[in-house]
Amino acid sequence: MIFVQRASRPFPLGLMETQATSSGQRQFPCKNCGANLVFEPGETCLKCPYCHTENEIAIAAAPVEELDFYSALSDRSATQQMQETITVKCTNCGAESSLSPGVTSDHCPFCGAAIVAQGTSQKKIKPRSLLPFYVKREQAMGSFRDWIKSLWFAPSELIKYAEAGGLKGVYLPYWTYDSEADSQYRGERGDDYTEIEHYTAYENGKAVTRTRTVTKTRWWPVSGRVHNSFDDILVPASQSLPQKYVQQLEPWDLEHLVPYGDEFLAGFVAESYQVDLEQGFEQAKQIMAGEIEQTIRADIGGDHQRISSVNTRYSDITFKHLLLPAWISAYRYREQVYRFMVNARTGEVCGERPYSAWKIALAVMMALIVVAVIIWFINNH
Ligand SMILES: [Zn+2]
Ligand SMILES: [Zn+2]
Repeated sequence: MIFVQRASRPFPLGLMETQATSSGQRQFPCKNCGANLVFEPGETCLKCPYCHTENEIAIAAAPVEELDFYSALSDRSATQQMQETITVKCTNCGAESSLSPGVTSDHCPFCGAAIVAQGTSQKKIKPRSLLPFYVKREQAMGSFRDWIKSLWFAPSELIKYAEAGGLKGVYLPYWTYDSEADSQYRGERGDDYTEIEHYTAYENGKAVTRTRTVTKTRWWPVSGRVHNSFDDILVPASQSLPQKYVQQLEPWDLEHLVPYGDEFLAGFVAESYQVDLEQGFEQAKQIMAGEIEQTIRADIGGDHQRISSVNTRYSDITFKHLLLPAWISAYRYREQVYRFMVNARTGEVCGERPYSAWKIALAVMMALIVVAVIIWFINNH
C-alpha cells in the first residue's frame, strides 16, 4: 500500500517519514486548488473540502479479475503481482500496517499499544480490489459512544479516549478463493424401518404380553463422487483481531468490490496480510469441507449417513486479494485491551465489553444467600 502524505500534517514517526518519502508515496492534490485530499466515506471521487471540485478516482475500468493460485505461488517474484510496501510492525500484537500521514500512528489500531517499531520494506502481493469506506467517521463515533454508554464500569476515561478520536479507519486484508472440488467418499447409508416388538408388562401383579412399534436402522456401505463449485470463499488475512470479531463483521457486500485505487486509501491505515496466499487456501478448504459434507450427505440419501473418508481434489483455483474497511478502536484499560469495531460498509458493530468485577461478585453473593435461605427453609419445615 502506498502512503499519502499531506504537507500540512508532519508524519508522526521520524524514521517513517524519511523511508516513506524515498518509496515514492502518492499525494492527491486537488486539480483546481492544489489542496491535499483524503477519501471521504460514501463518496465516489475525492471531493475538495475547500473549492468543492470533484477529483475523479483513476480506477481500472476492467472488472475485478481473479488470479491463478498456482502460478502466483510458483512465481512469487512476478512484478505485476507484487509491490513494495513499507509497514510498521506493532511489537505488542504483531500487526503490520502501512500508515497514512493523515492518521495518528502513535497507537496500534489493533491493540492500542504505543508503536515504537520502525518501518520495514516488504514485497507483498498487491491488493486488486476493495470496498471503499461508506460509513462516515461521525456515524461510527455515534455507535462508539452508544457502546460506551452501555458499559458497566465508569467509562470516563473511555469517553475521553473516544473524544480524542480513538477510532481509526483501517482496511483489513482478505483473500477470496474460487475453486472446483471433486470429492470421492466412502461411508454408510442408514435406512429406517419399523418392527413390531413383543414385551412383557405387569398389570395388577400379572404378567401380560404387549406389542409396540420400534424404529430401527439398517446400514448399507456406500461410496461415490460429488462435485462442488465454490465462488468467493472469504478468508481474513489478518491475525490482529480475534477471529470471532472478524466473523461478526460479516457479511460484506462483495458484489460491490471496486478495482483497487490508491485514492481510496488516502487518510486510512491499511493492514498487510499475515496469513499468506497458501495458508489462506488451507483455511478456505476448511470452509469448503463443510459444504462438501452437505453435498455428500445429500448424495448418500437415506435417513442417516455416516462418512468414513473423503478425498477432495481442488482445481481451477483462483484468488483475489482485497481490502475491506472497518472503523476500529483498541482501548487499553487496566492491562486489558477492549476493541470496538464497525463494518464501514454496513454499520454492523461488535466489540469486547468489559465487565465490572465487583458487580459479578455481588451477583454471586446474592445467589449464595438465596441458596442458603432455601436450605435453611427445607431443613426447618
Ligand atoms: Zn480544491
Ligand atoms: Zn498492536
